[in-house]
Amino acid sequence: MTTSNKNHTLNNSRKKAYTVPKLDKGFAGQDIISVSQFSRKNLEHIFAVAEEMRAIVKSRGSTDLLTGTVLACLFFEPSTRTSSSFIAAMSRLGGTVIPITQGVQFSSVSKGESLPDTIRTLESYADVIVIRHPEMGSAKIAADYARKPIINGGDGVGEHPTQALLDIFTIKEELGHIDGLNVGMVGDLRNGRTVHSLARLLCLYDVRFDFVSPEILRLPLDVMNDIRDHELPAAETYDVADIISDVDVLYVTRVQKERFADLAQYEEVKDLYVITPELMEQAKEKMVIMHPLPRVGEISYHVDSDPRAAYFRQMENGMYIRMALLAAVLGKA
Ligand code: ASP
Repeated sequence: MTTSNKNHTLNNSRKKAYTVPKLDKGFAGQDIISVSQFSRKNLEHIFAVAEEMRAIVKSRGSTDLLTGTVLACLFFEPSTRTSSSFIAAMSRLGGTVIPITQGVQFSSVSKGESLPDTIRTLESYADVIVIRHPEMGSAKIAADYARKPIINGGDGVGEHPTQALLDIFTIKEELGHIDGLNVGMVGDLRNGRTVHSLARLLCLYDVRFDFVSPEILRLPLDVMNDIRDHELPAAETYDVADIISDVDVLYVTRVQKERFADLAQYEEVKDLYVITPELMEQAKEKMVIMHPLPRVGEISYHVDSDPRAAYFRQMENGMYIRMALLAAVLGKA
């Protein structure tokens, strides 16, 4: 069933989105908290630097651009790609990392230390901090206390801005342009912070959206309202079959088990969508399937060999984008 966005009646509004100042031209010394900070010009700049970073990594593996600088990675939630790509990015730029990624339980946070005190501590040692935290708005709070740049590596069901940057970079690399594309997003649109950031960032372009989810996982109203404010077309449906032949980008997400208060509800919706080779037969020849990963069944492994499956290339792009961002906030790009 396809519904017009005017019929968006579900009460899925949530904590009010935070306001963060726009990035100025250079990015140096600035926080990366929300995609709302970015202009198209900012994105072009970061994408150009990411291309350079890719060329450096492919030709010689690393550079000494950030020698002598330190990144602190403070992760209160599990992470594989975001943490390791930030660590790899800093290492390839010649800098070093304080990794509090697996063991917040071994830091003083487990003794009851407050977030501001932990941030004050880390910024005494590091030049930039990446934080992932289960509370929406936590990265903004960290930034309010910190003198050094804070990068939001995911704040609960809020945002994941660096993922959105790498997502759009990937779309551009794969399809050559963003304007004019039809972007389908599938799965847990309510809790998926990557969806929230990507949908918002795509509002800088001329795109149309197709959202596919069950009723309880529909896109939050604040994100839908942003799309409406930009006067971009957006439709909602429950069935991937409704949109598969129309989309240029199919952005698939996992159902976020950890965000459910009622696990019985999770069980009801967890296996609703599976992208299979049979389904892909109906898709355009030139399109891409993306996923922020991890996947837990929503894309069949048989799809991996499809040239349109871009999720592993997308993941690699994360490192180049994060190299570009680190260089930028540290005033070297
Ligand atoms: N890795 C992404 C995130 O941290 C997506 C996910 O967990 O499903 O938001």
